[in-house]
Amino acid sequence: MIMQTLPLQTGMVYGPVGSRRIGLSLGVNLSPITRKICSFNCVYCHYGWTDTLTMDADSENLHFPDVNDLMRQLETYQVDHHLLDHITFSGNGEATMHPNFDQAVEVVTEFRDKAAPQAKTAILSNSTMAHKPDVRKALLKLERRFMKLDAGDEKTFRQINRPSKAVDFNALIDGLKALGNFETQTIFLDGNVSNASDEAVDAWINVLSNLRPNAAQIYTLVRPPADSHLKPISRDRLKEIAERGKAADLRMQIF
Ligand code: SF4
Repeated sequence: MIMQTLPLQTGMVYGPVGSRRIGLSLGVNLSPITRKICSFNCVYCHYGWTDTLTMDADSENLHFPDVNDLMRQLETYQVDHHLLDHITFSGNGEATMHPNFDQAVEVVTEFRDKAAPQAKTAILSNSTMAHKPDVRKALLKLERRFMKLDAGDEKTFRQINRPSKAVDFNALIDGLKALGNFETQTIFLDGNVSNASDEAVDAWINVLSNLRPNAAQIYTLVRPPADSHLKPISRDRLKEIAERGKAADLRMQIF
């Protein structure tokens, strides 16, 4: 059976999505809905391959959704607010690329305070914009930041995340260091490319030991990826990676 990647989200609000990592989460998508725009083209992306690979949201006619409409969309979206664990920037791209990301964070925070005070505000980010001080300032207004880091060496990073040419791996790491107070999210996979070899895992642990995330969340493929030749790693291998992380004094969480 051929497994399909997911269609792009069609609005700024979606879900709620039941997530193994963050419970019941109302999704906020700040990316255009007609084509996939991202600073990464991850081999495992469950929205398929990136159509427009860019770091510069202002350089192209990208048709980002209008943040002025976000409160209305949140207020009219039918969902049982008191059941939500998180309201999370995620969706089919990188939310921090939106030119008005800071404004969107304020809208989501105001909505959460009114409609779902028990829920935490959060983001699943690919970390590529964390080197920008204004983006870091907005990120720090959220309560939880899940920052992607799938590799600790540049070669593996480029194979797995296939970034825009404008993405500088060292600047990304420096941006995370400057950000502080985040959790990392890492998917380990095998197949055409792999970030699960001993060598790649050692490099990744080395970088995390310097960044000191609040927790390092690790998991493997569960949804159909863009590259259909990828494979999940075994649960035993995930546990071995977690043990290596713990030996380096990292707080590891397997999902
Ligand atoms: S960063 Fe996220 S949306 Fe962008 S290609 Fe990777 S998995 Fe897909």
